[in-house]
Formats: sequence, C-alpha cells, structure tokens
Amino acid sequence: MQKKESVLQVIKETVRKHGVLSAALFGIVCGAVVFTLLPPLVLAQLIDLLTNKHTLWMEGILLYFGLLALTGLLESARESLLTVFGQRITHALRSSLMEKFGRLSANELNRQEPGALVSRFVGDVDTVENLFTSGIISMFADACKILSILVAIWVTNRGLTIVLIVLLPVLFLFTRYVQKNMLASQIANRRAVSRASGHVPETLHNIRTIHCLQKETYMEQQYARYIDDSYSAMEKTNFYDAVYSPVILILNAIVVAVVMLLSASENPTVLKLFGMSAGTAVAVINYISQIFTPVESLGMEIQTIQSAFAGMERINEFYSLKEKKEPAALTANTDYGMAAELKNVTFGYDESQVILNDVSLQIKKGERVTLSGRTGAGKSTIFKLLLGLYEPQKGKVLIWGVPSVDLPDAKKRKVFGYVEQSFHMVPGSVKDQITLYDAKISDTDVKKAAELTGLAKTIEALPDQYDTICTQDLFSQGQWQLLSIARAAAAEPEILLLDEITANLDAETEKMVLNALQRVSKNRTVISISHRTMAETGRVIPIS
Ligand code: ATP
Ligand code: MG
Repeated sequence: MQKKESVLQVIKETVRKHGVLSAALFGIVCGAVVFTLLPPLVLAQLIDLLTNKHTLWMEGILLYFGLLALTGLLESARESLLTVFGQRITHALRSSLMEKFGRLSANELNRQEPGALVSRFVGDVDTVENLFTSGIISMFADACKILSILVAIWVTNRGLTIVLIVLLPVLFLFTRYVQKNMLASQIANRRAVSRASGHVPETLHNIRTIHCLQKETYMEQQYARYIDDSYSAMEKTNFYDAVYSPVILILNAIVVAVVMLLSASENPTVLKLFGMSAGTAVAVINYISQIFTPVESLGMEIQTIQSAFAGMERINEFYSLKEKKEPAALTANTDYGMAAELKNVTFGYDESQVILNDVSLQIKKGERVTLSGRTGAGKSTIFKLLLGLYEPQKGKVLIWGVPSVDLPDAKKRKVFGYVEQSFHMVPGSVKDQITLYDAKISDTDVKKAAELTGLAKTIEALPDQYDTICTQDLFSQGQWQLLSIARAAAAEPEILLLDEITANLDAETEKMVLNALQRVSKNRTVISISHRTMAETGRVIPIS
C-alpha cells in the first residue's frame, strides 16, 4: 500500500510534535496585536494633558515607552518564533520528500527531470516555509490588527472610520492587482531559473559530446535564452515593486491631510464626525500609518500564500508518484534447484509498449548462461526484472522460486552481484566503491575482493591505498570494470549478473577481466549478457 502523504499532513505532524512552540507562537501573535493598539492611546492622553496645561504624569510617560518597548519585543519574539517554526516545517518536509524519493519505483525515478526534482526539494519547500514565516500567520495578525485599529479609530473619530472603510477595499484591490502581476512574473522567473539550473548539470554531464560536436555555442545560446526569460520576468516584478510603495505613501499622506483639514472645519456636522483633540489627532495619525502597513502586507501575504499553494501542489504531485512495491520480505531458499526463472513474462516500461513478449527461461543453480540477442531486444531489461526493479505485466520472475520483487532490498546484495557495462562511481574512497558504504563488508572482505579481481596491487600503489578518494581518472576503463567486479563479489552473492562487461575493452584487458571473472564465478550461478559467445560462457539463451 502506498503511504499517503501530503504537505498538510507533514505540517500537522510538525505542529503536533512542537506543541509548546506552536502554542507560544499563537499567544505571542495575539499579544502583539493587542499591544500595538495601546501606545497611541496612551500618547493621546499624554498630549491632551499637555495641551490642557496639566502637568505631565511621569508614570504615563514611562507607561508609553514601556508599551512601545513591549510591542517591539513581542514583534521580534514573533519573528524569531516564526523563523524557528518555519525551519521545523522545512526540515520535516525535506526529510519526508527524501523518504518518498527512496520509495519511488524505478520507472518513476526514470521519468523525473533532475532540474524539476531539485526545485521540488529547494524552491517549493522554501515557498511552504514562507507560508509560515511571512504568510498565513502574519496574515492572521495583520487582519486582526486592521480590525482592532478600525475599532480604536471608531471610538475616537467616526468620520475617519468611514473614510477608511471606503478607502481600504480600494487600496486592497490595487494591492492585489499589483501583486497578481508580480506573482505571474515570479512564476515565469522561477520556471526560467529551474530550466537554467537544470541546464548546467546537463551540459556538464554531456560535456564530451558537446565538445566533440562543437555544440558549445548552441548550449550557450540556450542558456542565454533561459537567463533572458528570467531577467525579463524579474524586470516586470521590479517595475510593480517600484510603483507600489510611492503610491501607498502618497495615499497615506492624502488621508492624513484630508482628515486634519476636516477636523479644523467650521461646519458642525463635519466637526461632529471629524472633530478631535490634539492628542487624538496624534493617535489618529499614528493609527493611519499603522493601518496602511498591514493592508500592504496583507496583499504580499496573499501572494506568499498563493505561491506556497502552488509549491504545495507540486510537492503533493511528487508525493503521489508511484512507489515501488513493498517487498513481501520473502527469504530465498538457495537449496531450491532453480536460481532464476522467467515464466511467460510480458513486460514493457509503459503500458503501450511490449519489450518482452511471453518470454520463458530457466537457469539452474550453479549454471553459467549467456543471454544473447540483437541490441534493444530486452536483455538488460531481463536483468532489471531479475533484480526486482520492475514487475512484469504478465507472468512471473522468480529467484530461487520467489518473486524477485518480494525479495527485501536489504537482502539483495547477498543474492545478486550486478556488474554493469560501465562503472558508476559513488562519492568516496576506493574502499567505498567496493563496500557501497555497507559496514557489514569488512576491510578483509574488501582486500579479498580486490585480490580476486587482480586489482589489489594497483590499489596498494595508490597514495592512500584503499582510502584514496576516487576521481574519474584514478583508474583506466578496464580497471574500473575490475573494481565493478570486486564490488559485486565483495558481498559474496549467489548469482552474478554481468551485463556486457567486456564490450569496451581491448583484447588484453578483456582477458584480464575474464580471468578475474573465472575466479569470482566459482560456485556461483552466472548470467551474462554478451553479443559474442565464448567458450567459457556456457549455455546460450537467445533473446529476440
Ligand atoms: P543492448 O544490447 O543494446 O544493451 P538490450 O537488449 O539490453 O540492448 P534493453 O536495454 O533491455 O535492450 O532495452 C530494450 C528496450 O527497452 C529498448 O527499446 C529501450 O529503449 C527500452 N528501455 C530500456 N530502458 C528503458 C527505460 N528505463 N524506460 C523506457 N524504456 C526503456
Ligand atoms: Mg543492454
């Protein structure tokens, strides 16, 4: 059964796991809202006292500054807690994405585009983090702030409340218009950046081919196009960004000016609505600038939330990718006479294609066979089926009588030694190449495997011997191939799968590799793939 996962679930789990943090965050967010309202009220009282020629009330001044300090403290505590909380979410999301990655089926892994996958882990997770650091929680705080400021203004100046109730929706719509356009360009930018970031590793990966075919200019132009796309999208974002703030500032100034003018009016009706004391005027100016900031942030927060939702959708898409079948954890009984069996197997990587059609073959324990056939016939595909990476659409693939997909991954290295046509280096030392970080394979096993393949002397001549860090040019192709055999042999597997391992070697090296194989193959079942049939390769099974 595929484990059901979604961004929302990961978030819920994180909130539950860090209950104290979540509760503290909620408390501080609410506290910060209440406390921002208080300083202007105290200030209004103080100024009214002054203008009415009363002496200043010392505790009042202290209270005002104390409240200002407390508001600042609460806001900075809110920001710090939000950052910590956001990081917890990011951590949980990235870990669960990596876990999912490990559970993906071979077919899904094949289909993933590296650039897009990287942006799931990096960019999209970041947008979800922003959802908390500068999205949903700040939005809640800002909405509360706007409401409470409106209430506070209503108490002191009814006229201004009416002006604000009319003005705020217009301001909000303008903000949304600007931000929607910004979002569109940001998405275009992210797409271009993802293509550009995928372009570099792809170029690097194919660098030899690119040099040989002299396609450097083409690759450069392609890259330049991606960057140009990104720049033009960024320019649009910058334009809206540059226009927005001055408009808001001017509007803020106009509202303050109009309210001040109206409060000085001689018309009794106007005065009834807008009249106020000097202290209240200061408080009102304070509130007006306080109410503009959350409206502006509200738009930004909606945008953050939107892009977080887009990010969440892409992450959820990743979560819904097909996982490999949970192995039934069957243990192969090596006393069973048949090492490997294909029973009427029909298989294609996609439902629409058929690569193997009703193929049956049997390989006895201890037997040596060679699969031979034209290129593209499906020989390597048979290996992938034997390794349990794919499940056939029809028929059965059995290893020691057990379906290959039901063998647990942890046991597979004891069952199979798989030598591919080319060596896949893992980051690390020569020893790591052989052990594949498996602590169960001891240094003695590593040495034994190296000696068996005739590679021990070459390795011992290296500066740090088995601990020498591997680079692509540390060994020749033949030596890499020997290392590949050492890697397969180190875990002492029952079955050796050898895919065209001598195809790219000269006659001398081929002889060396074949000799190594002779030694490694003793008492094992050996299945090779070869275009050429050789005396030592045993029974030949044609694949067509
Ligand atoms: P060769 O002798 O050239 O190595 P082969 O007999 O080993 O050929 P396979 O590698 O098994 O052939 O490939 C058989 C067919 O399956 C090919 O048409 C190939 O395009 C297709 N194929 C191989 N791997 C995949 C994959 N991961 N996804 C989709 N199609 C694939
Ligand atoms: Mg092949």
